[in-house]
Amino acid sequence: MAAIGSPELLIVLGGDATSAEIDHVVARLEEAGVDARVTRGREATVIGAIGDRELLATLPLEGYPGVEQVLPILKPYRLVARELAPDPTVIEARGRRIGDSSFGLIAGPCSVESREQTLATARAVADAGATMLRGGAFKPRTSPYTFQGLGLEALEILREAREETGLPIVTELMDPRHVEEVVETADVIQIGARNSQNFLLLSEVGRAEKPVLLKRGLSSSVEELLMAAEYVAKEGNDRIILCERGIKTFETSTRFTLDLGAVAVLKNETHLPVIVDPSHAAGRRDLVLPLARAAAAVGADGIIVETHPQPEEALSDGPQQIPTSEFAAFAAEVTAIVSLMGKEIG
Ligand code: PEP
Ligand code: MN
Repeated sequence: MAAIGSPELLIVLGGDATSAEIDHVVARLEEAGVDARVTRGREATVIGAIGDRELLATLPLEGYPGVEQVLPILKPYRLVARELAPDPTVIEARGRRIGDSSFGLIAGPCSVESREQTLATARAVADAGATMLRGGAFKPRTSPYTFQGLGLEALEILREAREETGLPIVTELMDPRHVEEVVETADVIQIGARNSQNFLLLSEVGRAEKPVLLKRGLSSSVEELLMAAEYVAKEGNDRIILCERGIKTFETSTRFTLDLGAVAVLKNETHLPVIVDPSHAAGRRDLVLPLARAAAAVGADGIIVETHPQPEEALSDGPQQIPTSEFAAFAAEVTAIVSLMGKEIG
């Protein structure tokens, strides 16, 4: 997808519209100096018309053969809006899928701490059926005095883990100065909660040729999350996975308050896949499984979970990491709910 502006109108044709009908609408729009973005789905074909609203109003769009509806876009988010794509977006990395009927099981340590710790975790999660390996190389820590990540050395270790297990790598990009290295290694680029509204970073990954896992900010509304995704999509990258990871509320019994209602809302509002991070929301390992099950049941397209061979020795987020020895049992419990929802681990 090339960099584009945002559509003002959606022109909806039936699922049985012919290529000639679609081409005809596109040709009329282009003649009038309006760009068209065509999304073909099973039920409908949607053409986003990108151009001046007043100029668009002069075109007899409703009268063109095959056109069923012409809808103005009223919401602030456009490219990520459900209306723009009739079918759910499926994100694929190295043959693993997230979205529609494919549930992503992303697992791995909070931080890449050593070669041994990362490879041991990668093997354990691969054996347990995980679909992607997570691991932080650059860590956004609240305290500047705590472990900040191994940086570039960690990227090298992640590449080795991928080579051995075949699992695609999900790792966080924090600093625009590391775009090249992180984008080269990552199969999915994570944007963390604290950078969720770092608009320069969002535009940067919008120009990358890799999918983006965008976490909800600690204090972001659903609309702010969707607008953050819009920043990425506007630059031409519409391979985005949204992630609910808990928000700040008055409640202190969990580390953050997991907003499962937001997952249900997002599934209505956007065609993008939505996953849940039960680990950071819970902050303690005994709650990770119930929250993960609930995520699958509410309709999430996947989860991202932290696991470590020896959580008590972890350099970050020890209390919430599941021991790798327990990960297979955890995965089996989540898979049971995934199956009930009519989905498969992707
Ligand atoms: C993480 O995934 O390790 C992380 C730091 O998550 P978040 O940005 O959601 O806090
Ligand atoms: Mn963490």
